Amino acid sequence: MEFTDRVTRVEPSATLAISALATELENDGADVVDLSVGEPDFPTPENVVEAGKAAMDAGHTGYTTSAGILALREAIVDKLADDGLEHTTDEVIVTPGAKQALYEVIHALVQEGDEAVLLDPAWVSYEAMVKMAGGDLTRVDLSPHDFQLEPALDELADAVSDDTDLLIVNSPSNPTGAVYTDAALEGVRDLAVEHDITVISDEIYKEITYGVEPTSLGALEGMADRTITVNGFSKAYSMTGWRLGYFAGPEELIDQAGKLHSHSVSSAVNFVQHAGIEALENTDDAVAEMVEAFEQRRELVVELLAEHDVDVAVPEGAFYMMLPVDDDDQAWCEGAIEDAHVATVPGSAFGTPGYARISYAASEERLREGIERLAEEGYL
Ligand code: PLP
Repeated sequence: MEFTDRVTRVEPSATLAISALATELENDGADVVDLSVGEPDFPTPENVVEAGKAAMDAGHTGYTTSAGILALREAIVDKLADDGLEHTTDEVIVTPGAKQALYEVIHALVQEGDEAVLLDPAWVSYEAMVKMAGGDLTRVDLSPHDFQLEPALDELADAVSDDTDLLIVNSPSNPTGAVYTDAALEGVRDLAVEHDITVISDEIYKEITYGVEPTSLGALEGMADRTITVNGFSKAYSMTGWRLGYFAGPEELIDQAGKLHSHSVSSAVNFVQHAGIEALENTDDAVAEMVEAFEQRRELVVELLAEHDVDVAVPEGAFYMMLPVDDDDQAWCEGAIEDAHVATVPGSAFGTPGYARISYAASEERLREGIERLAEEGYL
């Protein structure tokens, strides 16, 4: 069989090697502490589950309009307004997950030879999606700056030019948990305006922060007509398996990306969209409880690591942190899982070798166990 350049130029995810090892060990009876997962360990809030069931019982099981049911798009428009973003329901497309939203937006904006800029370490799929679309990547390394963007603005200014087509910003960040300051985002805005760059703002962790309020990039003056805001339900409402997300942007982008949407997925799942309305409108307490638990776990992990003289850049959002490890982070992660039975993700998967990503979306007991084992086996 002959395969397209589009797929052959993309590497399989570096996380696969780790999960394959973890599964092998578990099949052999080992107790693996899995700190590699990118999903909350809480159940979906009960009222959201009930809303999904009720929608199914009410017969909401057919196709919906491609962009998503109006009531959900209205709820999304209200949520975006709370974030300072003004959109109409015609400027929103509901997708099966934020990943599909990013895929559609990137494929609508990037073609052969276009330049996209990433802030490293960056979530694994941005690189793959840009490459599949034929784009070239320019990467700005935030690791020397504790993963913050503000001190790296000069480097970003050097990296972008009039040839830059797209910049992807993800705050709070996966994998670092960094939340970019307003000054950093204003710096991005100035560069985007100066060089006429379109920006994707991936805000999927926006609801999960600890004492800071992340600003939406599209809310800054001059950004409304050049920003596509991506968000989803997986993280804030613990709905990873429901597959529900969305993007909002200028209508011309919606028209073009909407063609990709309707010719690929048609629409997100009907009854899942109904559950999404409940998630947006009636989960304040459930979300606050989950965020509080994540915050306590963050404190615990930072404290336990400090006891072993390991300093980390303390995350202000999401549920990840980057642990400084050996230069050969892939070998470190493979060793950690083989010897300590603790699964983490190598920083090189995110473009930043020398680190391992820890997810603290795990119980306090498992977090203690994992860090103890890493220390015992000489990995800290
Ligand atoms: N964006 C970031 C930064 C993520 O970490 C993820 C999931 O891990 C996604 C987007 C995609 O989320 P989903 O497709 O589950 O909505």
